[in-house]
Order: sequence, then structure tokens, then C-alpha cells
Amino acid sequence: MANRTENKAGASGKARQDKIDSPISELKGIGPRRRALFEKLGVRSVRDLLFLLPRRYEDRRGKKNISALVPGFPAVVRASVRCAETKMLSGGRRITTCLLSDGTGELRAAWFNRRRLEKTLADGAALLLYGTPLLHGDVFEMTEPEFTICRGRDEQEESSFCGIIPIYPAVEGITQKTLRSAAKRAVEEYLPFMPEELPQSVARKNGLLSAADALREMHFPQSPESWKEARRRLAYEELFKLHLLLAERRRERECCRSFPLVKGARFDAFVSSLPFSLTSSQKKALDEIINDGASGAPISRLLQGDVGSGKTLVAAAFAACVCDGGAQCALMAPTETLVEQLHAQALKYLAPAGVVCAMLKSKMPARVRRETLAGALDGSIDVVTGTQALLSDELHFKNLGAVIIDEQQRFGVRQRACLLKDGGRPHLLMMSATPIPRTMAQTLCGDMDISVIDEKPAGRVPPATRVIDVAALPKLLRFIAEEIAHGGRVYWICPRVEEDEGSTLPAAGQRFEWLKKKLPPIKISLIHGRMGAEQKDAAIASFRDGKSQLLVGTTVLEVGVDVPEATVIVIESPERYGLSQLHQLRGRVGRGARRGVCVLIAGSGGETERLRAFAATDDGFAIARADLEQRGEGELAGLAQHGLANFKIADLRKDFSLAEEARKDAEEYLKNK
Ligand code: ADP
Ligand code: MG
Repeated sequence: MANRTENKAGASGKARQDKIDSPISELKGIGPRRRALFEKLGVRSVRDLLFLLPRRYEDRRGKKNISALVPGFPAVVRASVRCAETKMLSGGRRITTCLLSDGTGELRAAWFNRRRLEKTLADGAALLLYGTPLLHGDVFEMTEPEFTICRGRDEQEESSFCGIIPIYPAVEGITQKTLRSAAKRAVEEYLPFMPEELPQSVARKNGLLSAADALREMHFPQSPESWKEARRRLAYEELFKLHLLLAERRRERECCRSFPLVKGARFDAFVSSLPFSLTSSQKKALDEIINDGASGAPISRLLQGDVGSGKTLVAAAFAACVCDGGAQCALMAPTETLVEQLHAQALKYLAPAGVVCAMLKSKMPARVRRETLAGALDGSIDVVTGTQALLSDELHFKNLGAVIIDEQQRFGVRQRACLLKDGGRPHLLMMSATPIPRTMAQTLCGDMDISVIDEKPAGRVPPATRVIDVAALPKLLRFIAEEIAHGGRVYWICPRVEEDEGSTLPAAGQRFEWLKKKLPPIKISLIHGRMGAEQKDAAIASFRDGKSQLLVGTTVLEVGVDVPEATVIVIESPERYGLSQLHQLRGRVGRGARRGVCVLIAGSGGETERLRAFAATDDGFAIARADLEQRGEGELAGLAQHGLANFKIADLRKDFSLAEEARKDAEEYLKNK
């Protein structure tokens, strides 16, 4: 983007742009010491400083006469010093008090530990003060008011003290006053050199301010309304740039050639070997995927669907079509446990259709590994499942036609990018159970198409969710014992491994011991984040095989673990999770014939309301929206951090219609260029 502006503006434009990138030490008042302090915040150039935006503002418009002050309400006052004195307090503190008057009344101001302040506050000096007045007897008093000394009736002084005052993010060792005056200098002396990076047509269409005007307004707003306009302008630019980049990527992808996707013999065999038929939502998603491939360009698609909606099945159908087109697939999951599970699913669905499936694990017999690698290379193996580490390092395919990523929400965006670095252009299909609202998904994963499975296989009854309190624990234990006696299995989720000092949180290890005592002869396994991969796998395997019937653990269980016999999940401290995360956990049970039950052990506090609302719905998308409103981006934040969407100003929670606008504009702009 910067390049484009440069080209248009030519050499003089370049010089202008360089000016905005001058080191901040060129600003008056910023020497080596302050420069170093700013650098800690990543602020090096004047441009950086201009983008160090206020965290909030103080509305100091309109001065008040002392007689018109209202106790407790902050105000600006202009008054003259009557007298000032400093006293020592116990403990070596000093207090400077000052009596001021403006002809309508008297005001006392007090500051602590300010050296020689009483000298500054010479009798008769005129001051502008900002603070919160409180009544002491019948005299107003302000403690630690901000102030400036007025020399004569200086308009400028007054305007920089009154107005709407920016409060900047704290920079250690630099006062707000210094930050403000540095910003003021940058705005006055450098803003005219701010290059305009938005295409004119786009700015005009959306009625946007210039970058320079918007930044001035962000630092020194004239009114809340004009500030909003400025913020909109800057947020739009961030979104537009991102979408332009994404659209360019997409365009580049569309120029590549890739393997055809064919509903051929293996696909037909796959479909006829299924004991059920695909839901119409699954069919629709699959058709979108296959039609997408008809252009010959590699597809890049995110398949979203609630837990248990049958995404993995769609992925298997897609893999069959890739194989029918004469190519191979790499199938990825985020952990070894999930890899094993995914491989088992691949075997179950694809092997009957004549697709040769193999798996790579970190620990496996050397001979099997060699054979698997050789099979991928000579094309005798069609599908290889593994974690990302295994797939990216040593594995080479004869004809890699597609990369399929399950539980994509666990991979960062950047990791996905390096997956494709080998130069090949396979199709990319990713599955995600985090139901991201569409606009947000388009911004976070915007160079991808999106399909949604919004229906679950028929006959599936959503788990019942109960909110109980600790007093009901004995009853819960009886229920669990009964459930297990009837062939069910139970997950018990604790938030942390060990008890933190002073924390009242339950710990998985302690809970494990406690449950062992309370529930003999039930076999219990333990899993938590500090265990090695092998131990974890062993714990899950033992639970899956029914050697243990109760699995106590932390949220490592969260993603994708599929044990159809599991019917109950107990979640301690549910208030510690986002609703989407709870929904994921809840999706672990009721996958088989028996109905699932999710038990939330609510702590004290006002959380119960939120949990009850959660218990009342099974709509993952509605839950994700509620989560966004209540907790911010939550799990999405992880995605955003890794990704391109590293916004300073735009906020996907609020700016979704702006993001949508920017996306359309970027596509339009690229088309007409
Ligand atoms: P997801 O990956 O979305 O969590 P899966 O593909 O693992 O879901 O499917 C969940 C369960 O539902 C699996 O046991 C699967 O066999 C079953 N299933 C998938 N699609 C259907 C369908 N169309 N009809 C009946 N059962 C289905
Ligand atoms: Mg799945």
C-alpha cells in the first residue's frame, strides 16, 4: 500500500513520507532519556508517536466560576493565588497548600511532595486548575489538581488546558503533560506530511476525513461526534488495508492450477458405505467445496460447524473426491491424541472406499515410519494423518492435492501460512468448531471462503445442562455412580493443575484423589497440561477403551476428543470459561445413543444468571455472539494475535459493518485497478 502512494506521489512524495518517519528525537523536548523511554513502548518515529493514541479523554470544556462549582464534579477554574505555603507532615512528607480566588469565591488547593512549589505559586499568579472540588466547611478544596500558570491572557495556553484533553497510555517516566506536548508538536509540525494511503475514490465514497485530520482529531478532539468520525476513518483504513491484502492473495491463488475434485468411484463407494445419509447441510457444504474446485484453482475454505455437526465426515467426503481426482491428502490435527482419533475416523470412512490411509506419530516403529514416508512419496498411500510438525518436516508427497486441517481454531494463522511454503498449491480445507460470526471470520481468515454446517444429524438430542451449587455434590456423586453402572462414562473438568497459593480453585490432582476415595470401585484417570504427551495419550486411551470410566482433567480435553460412551461432563468453576468454550466442552458428551448431561458447579457471585442462560440454549452461534458481547473476542483473540488482523484501532466486535464495507470496497478497488 505504501508503495502505491509512493509511486503516485513521486519523489517529492517520498521526501514527505520520510519526514513523518523522522526519529522522535527531532521533536523539541525529546532528548536521549525520553527517547529511550518511548522506545520501550515501540515508539521510535514521529509516525509511531502520532499513532500512540489516547486511551481516554477528559472533557474540560467550559470553565466554571468558583461559586458555581458542584462538589464531586470535576471542573476547570481560573483563579489567582492569594497565598501559598509548605508544611512538613509526619513521615517526612510535605504538603503545599494554596488559597486562590476568582472574585466569586475562594478555593483551596493542596499538593504533596512538590519541591519548591510554593515559589512557583507566587502571590497574584494566575492559574488554570482542573480537579474535583470537595467542600470542607464552606470552602472548596481540590487535592492534587492539574494546573498551569497563565502568563497574561494567553488564549493558546487556555485552549491546550481546557478543551477535550487526551489521556495517553502510561509511559513510565513520562508525565501526561510531556506526552501531550510531544503529541501537540508532532501534530502541528509533522501532520501536514502525513501521506494519504487510502485511494481517493474510496475515501470519497465513504465520506472519510483525511488521515491527517483524523489523527489531529484523535489527539485533540473538538467534540465527541467529530472524534467518532476520526476513529471511523482510521479503523476503516486498517480494515481496508487488510482486506486489500487478502483480496490480492485470493487473486494470486485464483491464478494457480490445482488437482481436479471429482465425485468418482471412491466417492460413490464412500457414500454407499455410510450407515446413514448426509444431512442436507453437509451436502450443501460439500457441494460448495467441490464446485469451488471446478475453476481449476486451489480452493481455500473454512468449514464451520458446531461440535458434532459432522464436519469430519464432510472432510472425508472431500478427501475421497481429491483421491478420485488422482491426488493425495495430508490430514492434520493439533495434537497426537486427535491425530489418532482422526486417523481412526479416516480408516472407518475411507478405507471401505478403497482409499489407503496411514498415520505418522512422533513415536512409532522406525520400519512403519519408513514405509509410510515411502508410500507417500511413491503415491501408494492416499491419505496421511499427522500433527503439523510431522507433516511439515519430513513428509513428501508424489501428488499432494489437498491439505485438510481439523480443529483449525487451535492453529495460528501464521502456522497455516508456512504449511504451504513448499511451493505447491494444494487445496486447503480447514474445519473449525469455534463458531465465528461470518463478518469476523471474513476479516480474520479473509482470503478464504466459508461454508457453514448449521444443522446436526437427525435424532441427536442436545445435552441437558444443569447448574448446581457445591451443596449438591453428594447428590452429584450418586448420579455419577449410577450413570457409570449403566455403562456411561464421565468427564470431570477442573481449571488448574495445582492449587495456587491463596487460591480457592479446585485442582485436578486433588480432585482426582478425592474422587478415588468417594467413588470406589470406579476406575479413574487423570489428565492435565503438565503431563507428557505419552501420559496424556495413555489416560485418554484408557478412558476411551473403558478401562477407566471417569476422566478427571483440565481443559486439555476441550478439543475434539470423541468418546461416544461419555454421557456426563462435570465442569468446576465454569465462570472461568467463555461460553463458547463451555459449549465445546459440553459437546464432548451425548455423542452416542444415550443423552448427554452437562453439570456446571457454579461458584458464588452473580454468575449463575449467565450460566442459566447458557444452559437454556444449544445454538453455538448464538452462544458465540453472547460471548463476544460479554468477554470480547475471547478465543478469537488468539487467532487475531497470530494473524494479520493486528489492529490498533479497529475492533471487530464493534466494527463489523465497517469491516464488511471495507471488504467490499477493497474487492471493488482491486477489480478496477
Ligand atoms: P464434528 O467433526 O463436526 O464434531 P463428526 O464429523 O465427528 O462431527 O460427527 C459427529 C458424529 O456424528 C460422528 O459419530 C459421526 O459418525 C456422526 N455423523 C456425522 N454425520 C452424520 C449424519 N449425516 N447422520 C448421522 N450421523 C452422522
Ligand atoms: Mg471433528
